[in-house]
Amino acid sequence: MNENIFTTVCPGCSIACGMYVREKDDGTINIDWRKDAIVNAGKLCRFGVRLSENLKNATSKVDGNEVEFSDAVTTAGKAITDGATFISVGNTTCAEHVALMKLAESKGAVVNTGMGAFTAIPEECHPTMGVGIPLDAIESAKKIVLFIDPYEQYPLLVRRILAAKKNGATVTAVGWKTVSLADDNKTIDPANYESELALDSNSVIIAELNPSTDPERVMVLLNLAKASGAAIMFMKPFVNAVGCDLASKKTEQKSLDQIISEINDGSIKTLVCLDSDLIEIMPDETTVREALGKLDNLIVITSRASAITNVANIVIATEPLYKKAGTIVNAEGRALHNSGESTDGID
Ligand code: SF4
Repeated sequence: MNENIFTTVCPGCSIACGMYVREKDDGTINIDWRKDAIVNAGKLCRFGVRLSENLKNATSKVDGNEVEFSDAVTTAGKAITDGATFISVGNTTCAEHVALMKLAESKGAVVNTGMGAFTAIPEECHPTMGVGIPLDAIESAKKIVLFIDPYEQYPLLVRRILAAKKNGATVTAVGWKTVSLADDNKTIDPANYESELALDSNSVIIAELNPSTDPERVMVLLNLAKASGAAIMFMKPFVNAVGCDLASKKTEQKSLDQIISEINDGSIKTLVCLDSDLIEIMPDETTVREALGKLDNLIVITSRASAITNVANIVIATEPLYKKAGTIVNAEGRALHNSGESTDGID
């Protein structure tokens, strides 16, 4: 059986670990380690290793019936009218995101990445919120403060943090749960972060920015970094969240909560989601399902079968990320090129 080998990244999170995907003629895939990948030197977490089990390809559908890709596109073309709302949180390439931006623009709309904190926080902070620091910088830090659980959320960070510890760094985890690699696990009143953490320019703060992140919390951490001179990195749950945010940054964005509220009050009737499953992403599944049920048209453009493809009026099934042409920008701000050539979602 013939095999195609794609040089790509894991779609699991914004670290965007490099990998090879070997795809056989029958569509089955195997993962191979890319030892020359600058981000992860060939290492993968459990999600990446088991990617073939985690990926279920989407099928093009109209009103629940399987259709050809071209028929789904034609039907969607008629359904996407002026006033439609567009979402792409960053699970696709920059090229596909920008193609959706062009479509949205032709309908007098923008593509929302759903990161409400960007709208609520002054623009001068956006570069720090968007692009992080090189992962190597974590290894040379003298003090690391975690506002995430790297084991659960960003497993390949664990290697970097352990390397830093070997180099003499101390690690403090701040939050509600114990992080076993931390030297110290603390619950601290945000008003006392500065005095209790005693950070300086050799320190690194690692936090997360996702569609549900409270902007006030982001501001507290940005101020902590500014006051102490520490570097700060906001990890994102979506592989190309940084690239898509950079592409959309000059446009007026709505948070996902705002979009759900506008669906509920009837001002949004048509929603187009590009590789963005709101049922999975948002914390209250019931509320999201109820809101999506009120739409006249829910159009989902995606490579992956998931909860939202079961409730969409139209599903346009694109190729998986590893086959797509284009670039992904990871949490460090590193542009990573995909070897795939598919332009399904772009054309
Ligand atoms: S750390 Fe993230 S990008 Fe890397 S293999 Fe795991 S899920 Fe994929």
